[in-house]
Amino acid sequence: MLKFRSILSKSKSKSKFSTALLPPTLTSSQSLHTNTITDASSSSPRTCQHAFPFPKPPPNSRVPTASRSFCTASDRDSIEYDVVIVGAGPAGLSAAIRLKQMCRENNADLSVCVVEKGAEVGAHILSGNVFEPRALNELLPQWKEQEAPITTPVSSDKFWLLTKSRAISLPSPFNNKGNYVISLSQLVRWLGAKAEELGVEIYPGFAASEILYDTNSNVIGIGTNDMGISKDGSKKENFQRGVEVKGRITLLAEGCRGSLSEKIMKKYNLREKGGAEHQTYALGIKEVWEIDEEKHQPGAVIHTLGWPLDRKTYGGSFLYHMTDKQISIGLVVALNYQNPYMNIYEEFQKLKHHPAIKPFLKGGTVIQYGARTLNEGGFQSIPYPVFPGGAIIGCSAGFLNVPKIKGTHTAMKSGMVAAEVTFGALNEGLDMDRYWDALRNSWIWEELYKSRNYRPAFEYGLIPGLAISGLEHYILKGRHPFTLKHGKPDHEATNAAQLHSPIQYPKADGVLSFDVPTSLHRSNTNHEHDQPPHLRLKDPKIPELVNLPVYAAPESRYCPARVYEYVADEKNQPKLQINAQNCLHCKACDIKDPKQNIEWTVPEGGGGPGYSVM
Ligand SMILES: Cc1cc2nc3c(=O)[nH]c(=O)nc-3n(C[C@H](O)[C@H](O)[C@H](O)COP(=O)(O)OP(=O)(O)OC[C@H]3O[C@@H](n4cnc5c(N)ncnc54)[C@H](O)[C@@H]3O)c2cc1C
Ligand code: SF4
Repeated sequence: MLKFRSILSKSKSKSKFSTALLPPTLTSSQSLHTNTITDASSSSPRTCQHAFPFPKPPPNSRVPTASRSFCTASDRDSIEYDVVIVGAGPAGLSAAIRLKQMCRENNADLSVCVVEKGAEVGAHILSGNVFEPRALNELLPQWKEQEAPITTPVSSDKFWLLTKSRAISLPSPFNNKGNYVISLSQLVRWLGAKAEELGVEIYPGFAASEILYDTNSNVIGIGTNDMGISKDGSKKENFQRGVEVKGRITLLAEGCRGSLSEKIMKKYNLREKGGAEHQTYALGIKEVWEIDEEKHQPGAVIHTLGWPLDRKTYGGSFLYHMTDKQISIGLVVALNYQNPYMNIYEEFQKLKHHPAIKPFLKGGTVIQYGARTLNEGGFQSIPYPVFPGGAIIGCSAGFLNVPKIKGTHTAMKSGMVAAEVTFGALNEGLDMDRYWDALRNSWIWEELYKSRNYRPAFEYGLIPGLAISGLEHYILKGRHPFTLKHGKPDHEATNAAQLHSPIQYPKADGVLSFDVPTSLHRSNTNHEHDQPPHLRLKDPKIPELVNLPVYAAPESRYCPARVYEYVADEKNQPKLQINAQNCLHCKACDIKDPKQNIEWTVPEGGGGPGYSVM
């Protein structure tokens, strides 16, 4: 039996525990029970009574209790695990599963906790998704027998260049043979159940709002935000202090533009340390439709480039036939677009009226709407992913393969690789820096290296981009001696409005195209209204002094939820109003604001979209 250093021996707190830190979603009858913990570092046994903050693990689970402890620090409660994972997406859950598998394989025990800001696992997951099962085959090879929601193999693969009225067929570069059309939010729910079966503790409805450090600046876990604070900062009746969730190792799996991951990268200069360029991003807007059965071709995959985007703007659309007469349709647009008048939401509405797209949708109904950013920096933008006390995994670090438009398999694999390194670190005292080497020896690196010049090639425009990327894809296959650089960071790419003319978008017809409030309703977005704003302006004057006069208020267009609106104040002057309760957590504002003045922070846990088929 392998031995682990008990985390109890690290606890400095000698206070008597007497706490009830129930999340608002739980009742005390669901979760109250008492434990006795002996502090090994203390000369006298420490006895504490406390309430489990979260539901009890299932009776047949292998949830370890030996190395998990609960205590009340000076002003808030603290729970300790061996490994704390932030984010129950493909990366975080794959890491959790792999850790528990390694425990089984080595007859060892590690306590693993996953905190998730969505009200339930999968609620904040939005993806395409054509799924490449490579990582899942390695992680859970019996996934078919275990009824994973992966049932629709890709049956056809088309690639069109759209003009305003035509769809010109191009050879498909995607090679989706052996891949599946899925809903990632459903796959993630299934992964969550698999993780729980292995003894992972998952806590949806808990947003990690801060990183915890020890006195030597080592990361020792995360803090969740306080609940029940009103807009003006006063405590409401339902006030509950956040909790400290401490881990010997912390893995950040927050997905694209993770709020804590970005802070960690800055604090430890991880981009510089990894020799990485800045990250580049795109915003994806998506709907799931139910369409007529006779038009539905399960597994059919279509990607497009060109219209409705201009030739300087990189992006394209996808249309995937899922199961149950559902299709997922979306538009992905690189956030380094120049024209501040562009409105990605409206471009997506236009797309649905294209003569080659419209026939699929006619007679159908929209089931869900949502939006999320994705990384496009690829190989050039991977930061050094290790920091003192933990590591960054999945799209928070940026492993998406742009020419494939796939990041699920690489996110999962990075989580698995990090889990193996974490196991070695906790068990044998090995260095977490081994994660960097392990990544570079994994197939993730090989994939991303080969495809590194695809995205930057489109900096030269659509046609040169197609030519260079075609040469790369079919002939050079990544053996090119040089690596192209990315252009300007996305926020710097926006031109002053005077260089462009306003764009008039057609009015929504309510059949194929819809206004934002209608779409928002379909995203099931819900936030407690009376809470401090989670979208913070570093300088409250910038919107009226810079964004409006220089850039014609781009935030009122790039936000797919119309969170930012300029309204007249009492002096009839335009003033930015932030409708934070509409936020879809896509993170586009954090990326695209020209002065980087908007900071996206986590709202109260459980708020945000409620995706079920995205
Ligand atoms: C429009 C679009 C289309 C795509 N198409 C495809 C495709 O066809 N195939 C493919 O393979 N990939 C596709 N991708 C990429 C794929 O979705 C991502 O690569 C993948 O989801 C990354 O997984 P992740 O676990 O790193 O992050 P995510 O899936 O983003 O999961 C992160 C999780 O962490 C949670 N979280 C974040 N911050 C916190 C916090 N502070 N506290 C608590 N919880 C937190 C989030 O709520 C979320 O549940 C697409 C992406 C988009 C946006
Ligand atoms: S406020 Fe920001 S994160 Fe929220 S939906 Fe709008 S652009 Fe996305």
